[in-house]
Amino acid sequence: PPDVERLGNSTWTLLHTIAATYPEKPTGMQKDDLRGFMATFSRLYPCWVCAEDFQDYMKKDKLKVEGRKEFGNWLCEAHNEVNRKLGKKEFDCSKWEERWRTGWKD
Ligand code: FAD
Repeated sequence: PPDVERLGNSTWTLLHTIAATYPEKPTGMQKDDLRGFMATFSRLYPCWVCAEDFQDYMKKDKLKVEGRKEFGNWLCEAHNEVNRKLGKKEFDCSKWEERWRTGWKD
């Protein structure tokens, strides 16, 4: 069976990196692509309990595809929901772009 931890870490990297490179002003086709990708992703993610909970989450907190900031924040909140469920530290979503797009400044 898949290694749920390693799969998860790699998947969050992919998802946050997609958010980081998503346009600020996406075209209709880019929005459709993101909606389609996330809907399919939530059904195909090969950790079935994870996928089920994530589908439920997407039903109560509707995916935001209007732009990079909107999607990035939505994804950060979704990731925090999983962090809470697993007893991990919540991430400060105001630092989302610093972590995934522009790089930490310290
Ligand atoms: P991860 O949570 O993988 O995070 C990777 C990095 O992202 C962190 O080091 C941090 O720098 C950054 N980060 C952390 N939080 C945020 C945030 N909110 N926003 C932006 N960046 C952040 N595991 C289970 O055991 N049960 C589940 O039900 C489950 N559901 C999952 C659902 C999805 C959609 C995904 C992608 C993963 C799921 N996982 C689940 C896996 C779990 O979320 C972790 O990926 C895994 O436990 C490894 O954790 P990690 O400590 O490496 O950090």
